[in-house]
Amino acid sequence: MALLGALVCCLLATWHSRRGLALPLAPTGGQSPPPVVGQFWHVTDLHLDPTYHITDDHTKVCASSKGANASNPGPFGDVLCDSPYHLILSAFDFIKKSGQEASFMIWTGDSPPHVPVHELSTDRVINVIANMTTTVQRLFPDLQVFPALGNHDYWPQDQLPIVTSEVYNAVANLWKPWLDEEAISTLRKGGFYSQKVSTNLNLRIISLNTNLYYSPNVVTLNKTDPANQFEWLENTLNISQQKKEKVYIIAHVPVGYLPYSKSTTAMREYYNEKLIDIFRKYSDIIAGQFYGHTHRDSIMVLSDKKGNPINSLFVAPAVTPVKNVLEKLTNNPGIRLFQYDPRDYKLVNMLQYYLNLTDANLKGESNWKLEYNLTQTYDIEDLQPKNLYGLAKQFAILDSKQFIKYYSYFFVSYDTSVTCDETCKAFQICAIMYLDVISYTDCLKHYIKRNP
Ligand SMILES: [Zn+2]
Ligand SMILES: [Zn+2]
Repeated sequence: MALLGALVCCLLATWHSRRGLALPLAPTGGQSPPPVVGQFWHVTDLHLDPTYHITDDHTKVCASSKGANASNPGPFGDVLCDSPYHLILSAFDFIKKSGQEASFMIWTGDSPPHVPVHELSTDRVINVIANMTTTVQRLFPDLQVFPALGNHDYWPQDQLPIVTSEVYNAVANLWKPWLDEEAISTLRKGGFYSQKVSTNLNLRIISLNTNLYYSPNVVTLNKTDPANQFEWLENTLNISQQKKEKVYIIAHVPVGYLPYSKSTTAMREYYNEKLIDIFRKYSDIIAGQFYGHTHRDSIMVLSDKKGNPINSLFVAPAVTPVKNVLEKLTNNPGIRLFQYDPRDYKLVNMLQYYLNLTDANLKGESNWKLEYNLTQTYDIEDLQPKNLYGLAKQFAILDSKQFIKYYSYFFVSYDTSVTCDETCKAFQICAIMYLDVISYTDCLKHYIKRNP
């Protein structure tokens, strides 16, 4: 602990808080002044395992391996374990030292480890969330952070309630330094909130508790509008529209279809359709949507009923590298930086950073680096829905080199030789391009007919 304390102290000493937007893009030519870009960080799925420690008995390295032998444990973790504190600190340390100026950070949930239910409790879950919250608050005292709750940020996991609870109360208190009174009040009642980013930015964050719609949540079975979140969301978007604000939607469990399995939504289908309807209705003010939960890096494009792309959605990969003993693949730890146009909050680019876990453990030091620059790697102009839609169409071409890249980034370059056969590719492509049941089902039918 003393060593950890010293590390935190050194990080604090080297940190000079710099907020603001002024980061010039490459000149576009002509007489106009160079445009500026705003930036924000997205971190998700930290999944701290406080039991992680190096020991000769590999079954005892971490509770999250559930008795399996850790495969190659080192100071930054193991693929069969959730994150050691050291890994999480290395990610935040990288953010601090990156020299990137960010106006805020979004943090889309899941702090506790994947362990059997009896190994956690409400108090333990709150403790882990408190640990992660104070870590962020200590390291970034001047940074505005917008959190969202994950399905693991509750005990028992997934069962987030539709009324106030000990956990909602605890996070409302923990997140007070970041949120205003109205946000704290709805957070306390139902685990969701909305807040303007700052007085001088005409941008609102809506942090949804999509865990209420998550399939394993039995509390909300047969409920049409759990915690009245749909009603609240429509109202909030309506007021935003009247005030001519732009909105970023953040949440843990994503809308749409899971890209690695057939016809499976992360939420119950009814809730997915309902959310899609609302997002379509207000797509003109929603400038971006950001999720976590799958631990993988993926994009989605929402289209209107006529098939025109209207919204860009991003699922960020996890910081935890954990996988189940039966799984072949997992993700390297990742964090990302978004860039937006400060005039209209349109997303212009995303930089994905990662840690090669094997390398870091081998060298005993963390070398977080850029994995890819989204517009550069795919040669697109910006992250607007029509450009991402065009990209997805390129992915669909047989042997598309762009798709091979996308699929390797899906696992945060864990195995760059990974391949995706035609069925695997159909699931990926249809999940990117179609978020509602009718268009998704149609996509799979056509894709499979075309590539039997
Ligand atoms: Zn997670
Ligand atoms: Zn999750």
